[in-house]
Amino acid sequence: MFHVGQGLSFALSNTNGLPAIVYFNNVLSGGTVELYNLSIDEARSAIDSGEISPVELINAIFERIEAVEEKVRSYVSLTKEKALTQARQAGGDIKRDVKQILLGIPIAVKDNICTEEVKTTCSSKILEDFIPPYESSVTQRLKEHGYILIGKTNLDEFAMGSSTENSAFGYTRNPWDIERIPGGSSGGSATAVAADECIAALGSDTGGSIRLPAAFCGVVGFKPTYGRVSRYGLVAFASSFDQIGPITKNVKDSAILLNIISGHDPFDSTSANLPVPDFISVLGNDIKNIKIGVPKEYFIEGMDKEVEDYVKEAIKKLESLGAIPVEISLPHTGYAVATYYILATCEASSNLARYDGVKYGLRVDGEDLVDMYMRTREVGFGAEVKRRIILGTYALSSGYYDAYYRKAQQVRTLIKQDFEMAFESVDVIITPTTPTPAFKVGEKTEDPLQMYLSDIFTISVNLAGVPGISIPCGFTTNNLPIGLQIIGKHFDEESVLKVAYTYEQATDWHKRKPNL
Ligand code: GLN
Repeated sequence: MFHVGQGLSFALSNTNGLPAIVYFNNVLSGGTVELYNLSIDEARSAIDSGEISPVELINAIFERIEAVEEKVRSYVSLTKEKALTQARQAGGDIKRDVKQILLGIPIAVKDNICTEEVKTTCSSKILEDFIPPYESSVTQRLKEHGYILIGKTNLDEFAMGSSTENSAFGYTRNPWDIERIPGGSSGGSATAVAADECIAALGSDTGGSIRLPAAFCGVVGFKPTYGRVSRYGLVAFASSFDQIGPITKNVKDSAILLNIISGHDPFDSTSANLPVPDFISVLGNDIKNIKIGVPKEYFIEGMDKEVEDYVKEAIKKLESLGAIPVEISLPHTGYAVATYYILATCEASSNLARYDGVKYGLRVDGEDLVDMYMRTREVGFGAEVKRRIILGTYALSSGYYDAYYRKAQQVRTLIKQDFEMAFESVDVIITPTTPTPAFKVGEKTEDPLQMYLSDIFTISVNLAGVPGISIPCGFTTNNLPIGLQIIGKHFDEESVLKVAYTYEQATDWHKRKPNL
């Protein structure tokens, strides 16, 4: 950790009227670092030392959004006026010496997380005008720590997808190559972080939706253990999988946000009533003799050669830092995608039954009540959401329930046991986050099965409920980020963060910025 004034002096310069920071002893390759480049940790130091104000920071972020948003389209909506008001208040609070870790820090939130009085659309026509009358527990906690909401980020409709192309409001582009998708479903949040349109963001992960876009966009994405973070106010997709987590510029910021959002919540009966450790305090602990499992099933035929090479390189790096790689087997890996797509669609078909034109959002009038339901759902849902509702309803119907739903639940248990067995001999598991780097816009939209296979390395983690992070571990020859996945035992986010942080400190991948 560094503080302003600890070998790193900031100077404020005013180029084109924009507030800018120059690091004299620049950690980031000797160039100019703009305010919007800052991490949470750096912004906190710069604000607390009085070198920048929350208003300057928020202005820098909105100017950045103005400059690049047209290219990347991270946001569904922006909350500029509110954010400016909050930034002014934060400035006053700082003068009064109020101490809150996120005071004045601009954060983006995925648009399936309810924000009181701020539209929450799930990138679906059916919720296009839905304004939640309440705050999700995670954003409530961010509020209590002083954050400023910048806006709501784009996603695959109801978080169903791997590319952010399933949004009813247009797709988001990858900041490293705008001809490519950013990954999904939290593509808007990952892009907003990678393109410096916010300081950090929240996403949600049901089968990989935090880690996959984090990998494709070259940022850090963490899916906590199922039950670690409250789902209250997260619009439900598949409730036994969904978890909210941070998408950030580095591992320390991930720990900072995790400290805030974790913990028992009486509003979510699946949130675990366990003590929350201080995730920051484990960063920097050495990883000597820590055992890292490398599952042989995760280096498969057909995976991208550069991805494979960089991940193997990363394992060597960890070894040089004291970790001990051990080959392991997760024998039921091959069933994960099929199992997930049965269970997740079953849960989705049930969860999405609530959108009937009566309780929320869109209503399309019909001849009678049933006709109104049907028209509303016909117009309100996109193709992928409909496909999943149909699949899930089919798999749950009498006569098929035992063959599909029940069977898939049994396989889920086997997959969970694979992890439990592996963790008897290793501390963390290392895999690639994705089999390929970001693909081209439109490349997989015609073939849902191909799209589903993008999640092949992330899905088992949700089936088992264990925590997993994706951190940058390399770039392809055409400059696309590659992600390294680190998986931990249930409620052992600390080991995951410790290994991730140690690797990050020994490499420079997370410092690269897309050229926008
Ligand atoms: N891509 C997976 C799906 O389409 C996972 C989505 C997610 O994690 N929300 O279901």
